[in-house]
Amino acid sequence: MNRRTFLKTASLAGASAAVLSETVKAGASLSSVGRQASDVRQPMILSTWDFKLPVNQTASRTLQEGGTLLDAVEKAIKIVEEDPRITSVGYGGYPDRDGHVTLDACMMDERGNAGSVVFLEHIMHPISVARLVMEKTPHVMLAGVGALQFALAQGFHKEDLLTEEAKKAYAEWLKKSNYLPPINEQNHDTIGLVAMDASGNLAGGCSTSGAAWKMRGRVGDSPLIGAGLYVDNEIGAATSSGLGEAVIKVAGSFLVVELMRNGKSPAEACRLAIERIIQKQPKYKDVQDFLVGFIAIDKQGEVGAFSYRKGFQYSLLRDGVNNVIDAEYVMK
Ligand code: ASP
Repeated sequence: MNRRTFLKTASLAGASAAVLSETVKAGASLSSVGRQASDVRQPMILSTWDFKLPVNQTASRTLQEGGTLLDAVEKAIKIVEEDPRITSVGYGGYPDRDGHVTLDACMMDERGNAGSVVFLEHIMHPISVARLVMEKTPHVMLAGVGALQFALAQGFHKEDLLTEEAKKAYAEWLKKSNYLPPINEQNHDTIGLVAMDASGNLAGGCSTSGAAWKMRGRVGDSPLIGAGLYVDNEIGAATSSGLGEAVIKVAGSFLVVELMRNGKSPAEACRLAIERIIQKQPKYKDVQDFLVGFIAIDKQGEVGAFSYRKGFQYSLLRDGVNNVIDAEYVMK
């Protein structure tokens, strides 16, 4: 059972999703959405996938209650990290091929500050550690045991993040130990979230357990500033999900923001970034189930998304309503 199938059957998820979200099937009609004059005092929150959790709503409420953009991003992402049913982020994430859950996360704020942790083990909330790397160290990125040491020094506690469900899935995978395809429907779904506050400032964050059954030490795009996330408060913000290796090779989220700087709409920028991946690395066309998706927001509050393959969804909260939208795509 994959994450989405699992969540469909989970009563809590079903109940909260029914109240909090509407699914919009026509990606085309909402994939490029402008900010109305009446929105000006309303936050806008854009995030990858439909986690069937009040992710965008938490970010929006945090802003409305006077929290900062970073508070909003962090609180929203923590909801996904701590949910054991999500097998692609934080607690409950599927392990690497040696059976270890290793986590990657990053954050970027409206002033261009950035923080990131990679290959972090035993810490429930890598997004919070990434924020502290940004706020309390002169560095941008901490890795592995160094990141863990820093987290413990900041008061985080070591936890076992491998759930029984993940252990079972791992045991099943071990029977064949087949690592191909590298990312498919079962083994991806990063939370990437970008938020715009009432003043039009932008920030974002990204958190993942990465590709299931990955090589030990593998780090994807998600914690890399410019790959899995990029925020330029003068222009816009973008984040990604899917096969991290493909995103890294084109500095994907930075590329989307730069395309917006050059006048492209968020939807066009996301589409061009997907096309760039395929143009530069046509071999990905032959990878079964290959998927990369980008979401973006520009400084005017226009939103867009694009995916290589059908199936990528994103969640957009505007005017106080959260919609789950099917992204446009290249391949069925
Ligand atoms: N982009 C993530 C990674 O490559 C995976 C995902 O989005 O599901 O680690």
